[in-house]
Amino acid sequence: MARTFFVGGNWKCNGTSDDVKKIVGVLNGAEVPPEDVVEVVVSPPYVFLPLVKSLLRSDFGVAAQNCWVRKGGAFTGEISVEMLVNLNIPWVILGHSERRLLLNESNEFVGDKVAYALSQGLKVIACVGETLEQRESGSTMAVVAAQTKAIAERVLNWDNIVLAYEPVWAIGTGKVATPAQAQEVHTELRKWLHENTGPEVAASVRIIYGGSVNGKNCKELAAQPDVDGFLVGGASLKPEFIDIIASST
Ligand code: PGA
Repeated sequence: MARTFFVGGNWKCNGTSDDVKKIVGVLNGAEVPPEDVVEVVVSPPYVFLPLVKSLLRSDFGVAAQNCWVRKGGAFTGEISVEMLVNLNIPWVILGHSERRLLLNESNEFVGDKVAYALSQGLKVIACVGETLEQRESGSTMAVVAAQTKAIAERVLNWDNIVLAYEPVWAIGTGKVATPAQAQEVHTELRKWLHENTGPEVAASVRIIYGGSVNGKNCKELAAQPDVDGFLVGGASLKPEFIDIIASST
């Protein structure tokens, strides 16, 4: 089953409205492969979502970086799924390691968020990944399987999920996973999906890699058979993001 290459840009907690306009200007002027070859989604900070939505070319999607776990209401400081739907924001990133580690989001909490966001019609970039300590102790697969299981237990239909494998030791460190390391975990994740969600889900879910992807290392990673795209942090704020978008072609 053909899986359309997917490139997400996670802008994290960076920038001003002027920076946002500059980045969008670069993206709008870029020549990139058509939508059926590469799906592009950028994820600005919450407060800039309407601005980006209004300025960004229509063939690129927009994602929020988080959302609340259930229907909105008395949850000070949170942003509800209903609000994202109301603003026509189609995507949300959930389970990013920065939130898992710094804000103590558990596998179960992330799974609940994924299920609720999907139930309201959002599409989800769900992130999993091990720390350096976990990798060195040989528990990489156990960790990412437990993170994925918490989603699989709550979700039957995977059509609107992109799974992002983001080893924590590679995020923002400049220490990118080797193509072989990425391919190995992606293959294992696909095998896990095959055994636990069935062959169709395993064949169709896009598994993207994140962690120090840049304009130089993207091509070799993109050439791996089970690397279906990228979630890009730092480099998504720079013009080299265009090279990453084109890396599979
Ligand atoms: P990085 O971040 O590309 O800056 O390593 C990736 C991510 O956190 O999604």
